[in-house]
Amino acid sequence: MEFCALASGSSGNCFYVENSGNAVLIDAGISAKQIFERLSSIGKKPENVKAIFITHEHSDHIRGADVFTRKFNVPIFATKKTSESCNLCSDSDMINIIKNDESFSIGGMRVEAFSKSHKASDPVSFNVSNGKKISIITDVGFACENVIANVSDSDALFLESNYDETMLENGPYPYFLKKWIKSDIGHLSNSQSALCVLENANSKLRYLILSHLSKNNNTPQAALESFNILKEKKNFSPRILVSERESPSSLMRL
Ligand SMILES: [Zn+2]
Ligand SMILES: [Zn+2]
Repeated sequence: MEFCALASGSSGNCFYVENSGNAVLIDAGISAKQIFERLSSIGKKPENVKAIFITHEHSDHIRGADVFTRKFNVPIFATKKTSESCNLCSDSDMINIIKNDESFSIGGMRVEAFSKSHKASDPVSFNVSNGKKISIITDVGFACENVIANVSDSDALFLESNYDETMLENGPYPYFLKKWIKSDIGHLSNSQSALCVLENANSKLRYLILSHLSKNNNTPQAALESFNILKEKKNFSPRILVSERESPSSLMRL
């Protein structure tokens, strides 16, 4: 499989996973034009994309879904409550309703949904596997047992590392917003995320991509520093990267 983050961060999320020319997108939170341009920049075409899986209705996960789907005739998969909470696509025939624990076979890959804790109507994350397993986990308030199960059994892991706790505390956000971000239905901080990997990840993990960094309450450097605790972990040496808002990550392979 080949995979990358086309974008990740509080301003838009879109992940690409491909098996022999057939690809899925997990979320489409940047504009359709940006998805097109970023696919081109990694040498891929919209025709490679066979399905878009949507994690939840927040705009940083769905922004480009409607236009991309209609322009390139790509079906969307989302839970019923998610699809009812937003306008995923003005052509409702393009929307396939899924359960929050359902699995699908697409292009030689298995895509599995699992539920998680986040302030949305029926939020899910996904893993994609074909013998190797890639998990994409962002927008989680805490590491519930589904998150732990996927962190512990992945060859590649995109994991939210949303905020630096001190930057959030001292930053400009109003109190109610700070309280929500820190809550069990908000986002994972750098240290929560690093601790989750330290406690649960397996030595087979080859790629760890820190994702969904806040623009206001984090920096790539702060996120990476939190993961220095992984140096204590025996038989564990994944490549650690930070996904970016404005450009795709490098294309990785498993
Ligand atoms: Zn988000
Ligand atoms: Zn969200």
